[in-house]
Amino acid sequence: MILEKVKSGIDGLITTLRDSIDAEVFKAGKGKLRVVAQFAVGFDNINRADANHYKVPFTHTADVLTEATAEFAFFLMGAVARKMWSAEHLTRENQWGYWHPYLPFLGDEVTGKNVAVIGTGRIGLALIKKCVGFDMNVLCYDPAYQNHAFVKSIQEVHELRHARGLVKEKAWIEYVAFEEALRHADFVSVHVPLLREGESTTPTYHLFNERTLRLMKSTAYLVNTSRGPVVDEAALALALRENWIAGAALDVYEKEPLPADSPLRDPAIADRCRLLPHFASAARITRLSTDPEKGMAGRCVQGLIDVLEGNYGGDPAKMPYVVNKEAFTK
Ligand code: NAD
Repeated sequence: MILEKVKSGIDGLITTLRDSIDAEVFKAGKGKLRVVAQFAVGFDNINRADANHYKVPFTHTADVLTEATAEFAFFLMGAVARKMWSAEHLTRENQWGYWHPYLPFLGDEVTGKNVAVIGTGRIGLALIKKCVGFDMNVLCYDPAYQNHAFVKSIQEVHELRHARGLVKEKAWIEYVAFEEALRHADFVSVHVPLLREGESTTPTYHLFNERTLRLMKSTAYLVNTSRGPVVDEAALALALRENWIAGAALDVYEKEPLPADSPLRDPAIADRCRLLPHFASAARITRLSTDPEKGMAGRCVQGLIDVLEGNYGGDPAKMPYVVNKEAFTK
């Protein structure tokens, strides 16, 4: 379908994360296709080396979905830890009977807990801002980008909240090693790009696997709103079945849509495994605003227009939404 469109001689192609864009597509558009505009911030479906080889700039919609995705990750922590899904089922299925201090089940508080933020780029940092309001201690991990000025500002906010008597205990934030983050976290929230072997010195493919899941506390929760293949789902299903960790909330999967026979659908783990349909950026303004400063729709189309209309002196290296600037830097 995409190949046919490209072969028909289009100038620009708008893609979603389900579209695999590689040499075959660029070859089909050779001499005609001038831009690929991705309706997402992640672009692991686009082969960057192939785009560079064919000198086709591709754009993405960073920033405008940062807050929506971060708040969704935050809500998932609460949804899985406070057992919102099980509790609603109890009500709907008319199983809500007596009042008891701990039966039929309890959840875990989010307030005051330790959160590990894996990947402190745009969305990771936005999540940290939300965690501050819940007096959470923050363990940051990122091998490639450490924003110490941001961490200092958050520490100052923690200190002010304590000094003004808004909180009893002073919360803290620090950068730590990956394993340390996993060992001490009550919640682990993942905000990395999908980087396969060979694409980075610190690839993220199956970053969460049998070995690393076993490092987490048995009372901890994993939240993944990044990309599915960052988590080895077979290992995670086992971890949930055997209670290595307390629960997981997932928005993204190794294969999307989630296959009917996925081990994550096992009813035995349904109470501690939340499954959402790649929904973190799916909020009205974030998805649909035509303002490039507010919405993915606006930013995606503006990226396309910049290239087609030759804005910024026609230099893709100067265009703000172009990802593969390196292919055009003189
Ligand atoms: P970003 O590039 O600003 O941040 C990613 C961070 O991850 C960077 O700081 C990078 O250094 C870090 N990183 C790279 N390799 C790492 C590793 N091995 N371990 C830890 N950190 C590592 O990107 P962003 O805008 O914050 O988005 C992050 C990802 O979230 C996107 O690439 C996308 O795949 C995903 N996303 C999903 C949804 C959704 O709907 N579920 C929405 C938006 C973004």
